[in-house]
Formats: sequence, structure tokens, C-alpha cells
Amino acid sequence: MERLPDGSFQFAPPRTFPITIGPLTDADAQAVAAILSANTRCDLGGPAPMPAAQAHAALRALLERTGARWRELDEYAERGRWDYVAHIERRRAECPQWHAMEEEQRRSLTDEWHEQAMHRLSESGIDGPQAFLDHPAFAADVLRLSGPDAASPWAARAETADLVLRTYMGAAYHARQVATFQDQNMRGTFPMLEWDGVADSVACARCRRHFGQRFPVARPPRLPLHPGCRCGLTGRNKWALADEAAARERAPGTIPPTA
Ligand SMILES: [Zn+2]
Ligand SMILES: [Zn+2]
Repeated sequence: MERLPDGSFQFAPPRTFPITIGPLTDADAQAVAAILSANTRCDLGGPAPMPAAQAHAALRALLERTGARWRELDEYAERGRWDYVAHIERRRAECPQWHAMEEEQRRSLTDEWHEQAMHRLSESGIDGPQAFLDHPAFAADVLRLSGPDAASPWAARAETADLVLRTYMGAAYHARQVATFQDQNMRGTFPMLEWDGVADSVACARCRRHFGQRFPVARPPRLPLHPGCRCGLTGRNKWALADEAAARERAPGTIPPTA
């Protein structure tokens, strides 16, 4: 980990973007590093890991006590925030009865617009709407738009702790997997890696673009792609690739060529 001039610390999971949390004291940064590494040791062949629930509780408590923030999540949320706010404000401006409505009606309409805005975000490349539901950047807007108890900073801390752990563990798991395939490819067994994503309603357009893409095992992509990304890689062995090539020969155009 590395201390930055603004008092935050960069924790460097292998093969992906750094996780920057701060401001933290040196002792708190050590504690974060210990939580992260204890919780990933299972993937790296070390001693027993810290159970996930215990790691989550410890990280959440630390974030609550210090008020530290995860910079990459803030940047990621900020990217989608204006689109989200603009959508809700536009719908409100188009609603002539808004000013005459009861508080409860306003809230249920805002909830509906919130759902629509979240759907738009996932369409435009922002993943996992749950990550934003309680994010302070959005919470402040939902608060302003629909009443005083629409958001809870507690939930935001729990969500942040969960995303930090999942991102770090995902990166460690991914690095381990790549190393295994590279190892096996010493004998030419696994020449290619294929991007493997979860094609559900919250998967973002940015990740979807890569689903099924192939990479030479020596040049794997960096994963996770963003906070909360659930993508992974699978190995394509030489026999499967040969079968595909033969099938393409027999029926051109039915199987997409390897990138
Ligand atoms: Zn994504
Ligand atoms: Zn992804």
C-alpha cells in the first residue's frame, strides 16, 4: 500500500485498478490492509482466511469511525450522477400536479422515477444499481427530491465495505486464475482466455461489450473493470479451439472467428 499526499492510501490488488481509501491514519491503513489480505488468503493458498462476514463488519466499522471514502467508487458514482438527477428532475417538471400532491404521492412517484433513472444508468455503462441506491452522492439527491428519510448513511458504509471486499477478492481470484492458465499453457494447453460475464438486468453496457471476447493467455485484460464488476475469465483449451476451427471450415459464418 502507498500513502498519497492527501492522506489517503492506495491498496493495490493484482491486475486491476488501485483501491484508494482515505483519509486514514497509518494505523487505520494497516488495519485495512490486514482485512483485505486476510480475506483473500484462501485464493492464494495461505492460512485460513478471515470469514467474509467478520471482514465486512470490521471494514464497515472502520469506515464509519473514520469517515474515510473509497475514491474510485466516488468517481464511478459521479459519472452517472448527473444523468440520474436530470432524469428525475425532467420527470418532475413534466408532472403538472406535482405541487398539489401529498407527500406520500410525491414519494411514490419519485421512487418510480428513481427506478427508471437506475435502469438508464445500467444502459449507459454504470453497473450494479444497488451500489448507488445508498451512495452518498445519490442519497443527497434522493433526499432533496423525496423527503428527509429516503437515504441512510449507514447503508452506504455497509455497501462500500461490501464493494471494496468484493473488488479486492475478485482481483485476487482473477490474478490467481490467470497465473494457473499461464502455467498450464507452458505445454500449449490453454492458448486463449475468454471474457465471462453475468448477463443479467444489472450488468452494464461497458462490461457487456466484452462478453465472449478472447485474449491470448499472455495478454489478459485487467479485471474487475470497475467497482462492483462481476466479470471473470475462462480458459479456452487447444482442443476446443481446434473443434471450433473445424466447424467453421465445414459451415462458414456459423461460429464467430477468434479475435
Ligand atoms: Zn460493468
Ligand atoms: Zn464487469
